[in-house]
Amino acid sequence: MRLLEDRIRKDGVVKGNDILKGDSFLNHQIDQLLADEMGKEFFRLFGDENADKILTIEASGIAVAVMTAKHFGKPLVFAKKSRTANLSDEVWTAKAFSFTHKTENTVMVSKQYLREGERVLLVDDFLANGCALRALRDIVVQAGAIPVGAGVVIEKAFQPGGDELRKEGLRIESLARISAMSEEKGVEFC
Ligand code: 5GP
Repeated sequence: MRLLEDRIRKDGVVKGNDILKGDSFLNHQIDQLLADEMGKEFFRLFGDENADKILTIEASGIAVAVMTAKHFGKPLVFAKKSRTANLSDEVWTAKAFSFTHKTENTVMVSKQYLREGERVLLVDDFLANGCALRALRDIVVQAGAIPVGAGVVIEKAFQPGGDELRKEGLRIESLARISAMSEEKGVEFC
């Protein structure tokens, strides 16, 4: 997606060789017009999948996922990373190693919000090793629902998650795919 690639070139900040910070438009401050365009693009790509729900993981996937849900006219559900007092005991869970925090989280979705037979589109901001998307897909499968695909904002294609999950049969559409990056040279797209 040209608009997104231009924004990454302009405002993305590379840390080391494998972290891209999009804090000014995606991960801390949100450009809602860009997020809306990305939601529209996910609807163009996946609209014929007749998703009943959009599923993401807190926190940084939520903004794009809510815009995606708006274009589908369907609810957004986000998986939680910590158990809060008001979260029901009836939850689906999966383990996910956090790429950015380097910790293992148990991610949870209330059984109330994911039902057998529902068609679910996964959405996330980044795809690196695939742990976050794999946890979301596993939760959908546990619920007896159907993962119809995954919309990713930025795929770091030099990391293995995308290839592995595609081989496992998940349809993934990424709005920007990065083939390489470094602090010296910046970002190169596939
Ligand atoms: P994975 O689970 O695929 O290894 O990593 C994806 C998750 O880690 C995403 O939910 C995202 O929040 C975070 N993440 C992975 N790589 C990056 C990155 O380069 N920049 C930022 N801001 N987040 C990342």
